[in-house]
Amino acid sequence: MSKPGLNKQSVLQEYFGYDRFRPGQEELIDAILTGRDVMAVMPTGAGKSLCYQIPAILLEGLTVVISPLISLMKDQVSALREAGVAAAYLNSSLEGAEYGEVLRGLALGTFRILYIAPERLLREDLLEQIGDTPIPLVVIDEAHCVSQWGHDFRPSYRRIAEFIQGLPVRPCVAACTATATAKVKEDIQSLLELRNPLSPVTSFDRQNLYFGIEKPKRKPEALLEFMEKHPQQSGIVYCSTRKAVEEIWELLGRHRLAVTRYHAGLDDRERHENQDDFIYDRKTIMVATNAFGMGINKSNVSFVIHYNMPKNIESYYQEVGRAGRDGEPAECILFYSGQDVRINTYLINNHNDEEAERDEEQVAHNLELLKQMTFYATGTDCLRSRLLAYFDEKSPNYCGNCSNCKTVYESTDITLEAQKIISCVYRLKERGRNFGKLMIIDILRGSKTNKITSQGFDTLSTYGIMADTSAHRIRNILDALISQGYLMVDAGEYPVVDLTPRFREITVEKKPLSMMLPKETPPTVPGEGSADRFLERSADQKFGSFAVTRTFEKSKSAGILPDKDPVDEVLLTKLKDLRRELAQAGKVPAYIVFSDASLRDMCRKQPTTKAAFLGVSGVGEVKMEKYGDAFTTLIGEYRGKEEYGR
Ligand code: ADP
Ligand code: ZN
Repeated sequence: MSKPGLNKQSVLQEYFGYDRFRPGQEELIDAILTGRDVMAVMPTGAGKSLCYQIPAILLEGLTVVISPLISLMKDQVSALREAGVAAAYLNSSLEGAEYGEVLRGLALGTFRILYIAPERLLREDLLEQIGDTPIPLVVIDEAHCVSQWGHDFRPSYRRIAEFIQGLPVRPCVAACTATATAKVKEDIQSLLELRNPLSPVTSFDRQNLYFGIEKPKRKPEALLEFMEKHPQQSGIVYCSTRKAVEEIWELLGRHRLAVTRYHAGLDDRERHENQDDFIYDRKTIMVATNAFGMGINKSNVSFVIHYNMPKNIESYYQEVGRAGRDGEPAECILFYSGQDVRINTYLINNHNDEEAERDEEQVAHNLELLKQMTFYATGTDCLRSRLLAYFDEKSPNYCGNCSNCKTVYESTDITLEAQKIISCVYRLKERGRNFGKLMIIDILRGSKTNKITSQGFDTLSTYGIMADTSAHRIRNILDALISQGYLMVDAGEYPVVDLTPRFREITVEKKPLSMMLPKETPPTVPGEGSADRFLERSADQKFGSFAVTRTFEKSKSAGILPDKDPVDEVLLTKLKDLRRELAQAGKVPAYIVFSDASLRDMCRKQPTTKAAFLGVSGVGEVKMEKYGDAFTTLIGEYRGKEEYGR
């Protein structure tokens, strides 16, 4: 039951242990408290749940939250109970006895929040049980599931409006989603019959996430190297196919990493177990297809690696959003290869929906989305600004916390190099042959592979004329020549490079060309005040564009995020051990007890009294009562030893 004298600020502090609202939260809460419908469109990890949980605590009666995901419901309910809020859920995972218990609780009006699967809404026993208890608020989580244009349409969502209509008094309705496309938003508003909903514009920026693109020659080695540099950290590796998941899972397992896997080819039981292993930190790394992750609330995910490039930016952003939910710095790295583009193109073109005819419009739309994803992965401008532009959000062209901002690009004259590359394709064609990029690069660099010598390509006039240029650089220029239409890729069974009619502009007319290329010397990490070095970036940095270099204004907000605040690692480890024991005893995941961010804050503040313990971010009153003694005692002993040792 809510205590008298509570308001949104005191609930934030006393129940959830946070000092400040995040952007958007307060407006949404205010609207709900005055009975206005809302549509909360915020990126994954931004903190949508509190926007309805706080009103649920303050409003008289039962808040009903419709959620499509069993794992999410369980997680949310555990977290709420830990914070001292009476919450329950109803879904197919409940055994008969538990189910009955929840129904009895409903009849008694015990709960403030009920999470429920959409299929169960219209069952008669539910409303009967709820009886006279008022329902002031109905929340639709993952509201994009109502739209066919969303990536996760669920027919059962279409009956939500009917359920709401059936209630004796129309409640306030709150729809939550991380999907921002206009079509989906329209659908949410009309299909859920929202009335003049407040939908505050919140930024899609997740400042604590670092975005990186890597183009590793060998992905497996690059992945292992990453893992070596990030020991003990928890993270997700997304692959595009089940087969790739199996291979990577095996690879990491062979290297003695604590790894598990998830894809639609595993049976329910195993999927479930593996997911729990990850959530309960028994395994630190999850290798998975995009089937994994919806409804995963685990807050201490420190990295998300895309081993393959996804089909569109929307899915990408949703998947990387699972990193750094606790607000701690986290890394999102995409391993790009040209092959990912080909595979995705093939999948889109050959997508077989048994029921529907091939929808040309849809295919063209999906290919366009893929193109935008490819531009993201291959361009040279700020990755964050490109992601945000996708969500129609303007941002400075420099964030200082993505791989492009940390790479120094310079406008480079490539006239001569372009001539050499195109001549090579031309000479091969004279011999009646076309090859893929790798072979062209090898010939230009004068490799002595069997493939080259046996066919006499070492006698070509262009053999070895770029022996001093790195393969990486030749590939960059080759890609740019293709994207600018001087060369083309003929996508047959083996994609080969061919001339286009425009090639003469380069070889005959000797047109001068320049493009943005990474400086060959590795840059030092930019520090405060060194942003000037980045001013020489092109304002027209489209994919591989031949830049007309213009300078752009130094961005005011070009903040460079620090790495994780250094804290006492010895103490942190002790706190983590204690958290694990308490989590095991309470049969909840560790992050439900406290997030990593809270433990780090404890290291900083080192509270030894319960009152001081309340000052730690994420410690509310119930958690203070429940865990305060254990943690402050440990910290007190630790500090005592430290002082004694001095
Ligand atoms: P979403 O549903 O938008 O993906 P969540 O509601 O799961 O995000 O919130 C993500 C994390 O942020 C949770 O661990 C939550 O406790 C935390 N959080 C939410 N609001 C705040 C706040 N005002 N201050 C600090 N942490 C917050
Ligand atoms: Zn950037």
